[in-house]
Amino acid sequence: QAETARAAAHEPATTLDGRTIEVCANIGGAEEARLAAASGADGVGLLRSEFLFLERDSAPDEESQCKEYQAALTALNGKPVIIRTLDIGADKQLPYLRLPTVPNPALGVRGVRLWQSQPELLETQLRALLGVTPLKALHIMLPMVSEAAELREVRQRLEALAAELGLSERPRLGAMIEVPSAALCAASLADEADFLSIGTNDLTQYTLAMDREDPALASRADVLHPAVLRLIQATVAGAAKRCPVGVCGSAASDELAAPLLVALGVDELSVEPARIPAVKAALRRLDTAALAANIPELLALPDAVSVRLRLGELLALDD
Ligand code: PEP
Ligand code: MG
Repeated sequence: QAETARAAAHEPATTLDGRTIEVCANIGGAEEARLAAASGADGVGLLRSEFLFLERDSAPDEESQCKEYQAALTALNGKPVIIRTLDIGADKQLPYLRLPTVPNPALGVRGVRLWQSQPELLETQLRALLGVTPLKALHIMLPMVSEAAELREVRQRLEALAAELGLSERPRLGAMIEVPSAALCAASLADEADFLSIGTNDLTQYTLAMDREDPALASRADVLHPAVLRLIQATVAGAAKRCPVGVCGSAASDELAAPLLVALGVDELSVEPARIPAVKAALRRLDTAALAANIPELLALPDAVSVRLRLGELLALDD
């Protein structure tokens, strides 16, 4: 039986009503990419490249970055690999960057905003990314995007570098939706992006104004808050099928949130490699259309506790 479950993890996950959802892996580097492939991942939905930059005295050079990215692509053997550009600032710091101390780092220069003050970091990372093959499997994702201009600027830079290197192919370029402004303006981002991926950890933090690191708020900072769900719904509506929408925050592996995300119209879930078999199995038991019929009722509830309770009842009824 364990053998059957393992084999099933390598098959696509199709819901009872016939929707095939990509179940990808969140990883920190090439070693985990091999684990992801062995666990049945349909691709990598988030490679957090900052792990390459931590615990060192200086930023990794182009060659060593390229080697790591290439190893991840090779492990996935042609399946899509989303590599997120450096997401530093707020809770994640690098000693050699010497970023100024500010009163609210979570609202400061972090993620894609860093490229204004540290353009050479982006340049080196983009060059390293453009060195991988096959480029068509590579997806580059920008963290903490709050408006389309940020994506446009990186697209221009990427285009110029690719032309300089004489490349005929281009990687896809996408944005994370982690800030309410990005969710509400998803249509303008979808005009510029090849894909969107919702980072529910930060989106929950910024929507509810609850620090994701604060243990006193941990039980209340819940993705199932109707306000967060409405922003996810707005993202899917804004993308309007022009580009795929994924979720790479921890909500993607929450057993109540994941089915609801799919019912809200998300095309891809990215989870820890070990969770892939269980998430695929849960999707195969799900009737997304039936659950979608309950979305208006769920979004009208006053808080996350009520949504969790009602969703638990609805999903138990399905069994
Ligand atoms: C998120 O914010 O949901 C996310 C996936 O990014 P990170 O957890 O690395 O901030
Ligand atoms: Mg984030």
